Amino acid sequence: MRWALIGASRIASSYMMDAMRAQGGSILSVLSSDAGRGEDYAREHGIDRSYTDLGTLLEDDSVNAVYISTTNEKHHAQALAAIAAGKHVLCEKPLAMTLDEACEMVRAARDKGVVFATNHHLRNAGSHLAIRELIRSGRIGQVLSARVFHAVSLPEALRGWRINDAAAGGGVIPDITVHDADTVRFHLGEDPLDVVAKAGASGLGQGVEDSVMSVWSMPSGVMVESHESFTHPFAGTGIEFHGTRGSIFARNVMTQEPVGEVTLVDAAGTHAVPFETHNLYEYALGLFRGAVAGKGAPSADGVDGIKSLAVALAVREAAQSGRAVAVDYGGY
Ligand code: NDP
Repeated sequence: MRWALIGASRIASSYMMDAMRAQGGSILSVLSSDAGRGEDYAREHGIDRSYTDLGTLLEDDSVNAVYISTTNEKHHAQALAAIAAGKHVLCEKPLAMTLDEACEMVRAARDKGVVFATNHHLRNAGSHLAIRELIRSGRIGQVLSARVFHAVSLPEALRGWRINDAAAGGGVIPDITVHDADTVRFHLGEDPLDVVAKAGASGLGQGVEDSVMSVWSMPSGVMVESHESFTHPFAGTGIEFHGTRGSIFARNVMTQEPVGEVTLVDAAGTHAVPFETHNLYEYALGLFRGAVAGKGAPSADGVDGIKSLAVALAVREAAQSGRAVAVDYGGY
């Protein structure tokens, strides 16, 4: 893959560039809204060219894919421009600020015949692949309920737009609830029907929620409870699935690293579940590269990105209105 980075971001420098290169890809250029920052970023990370104009970056025929990791309000217009230029797109979550925008992005990619993927990393983790296999193979019987624990302390370095800029897509719901929605959908193979929620703002930031708890109804009758926060230094993360024949307890698995523990408890006792410890982002990029070559599908495609955004938007509306909200998945 010959990549251009749209956004001189931390996620690109801390995870994605290494993963692209580990997958044999090259990174040809980066877009930044600030010429000086773009030049510094390119120099520091061994990227040949930096641009401030997206159109100029996209004119480069040697680039065949873009990775969009700007703040959330920019994803929509940048994705549409990249798609129009015939580039394959890996876009960060949440895909967009609204469902209509996300649907427009996915439709545009479909019409143009380019691959469009959403960077939901958790479903690439060996831990989550093992959990899904346990559920699919019937090891816990009929699933009754799920619990997601994803309350963390937002690192100091990330306490910018995420906690004080609603217009840039800040807030814990677009930041973390989208990932949890994707992960639960991945495990259960179904989409939430409706949600109720309560959100809180502790004063960490301004104008956006920093904690939320929600309950989702699934078509099969499974009930899901999910907790996301930026303010919990010691809570730890995890996910649980409880079924008629067993329960899965996974700890420290809602993370960017290939770590954690997965335990199955059933009538025969308590079993440690082994799993692969590959790099989550490299795994996703391998599937993306395959999809571009016409082999298979990306890990999370555009529709997965639409659906995780739809759940997150419903959770926010439910928290703001105090009512149950049916999840609207839009017209993709
Ligand atoms: P950053 O805050 O690091 O970068 C976002 C934008 O902020 C950049 O595009 C850049 O603008 C600008 N920026 C960066 N550094 C500075 C600076 N020092 N001064 C001023 N502006 C700066 O964002 P993240 O990497 O945390 O997140 C980017 C996207 O990736 C979001 O959509 C987020 O939701 C997603 N994300 C996904 C993760 C995953 O695992 N899937 C994990 C983390 C984030 P410019 O490009 O114009 O220079």
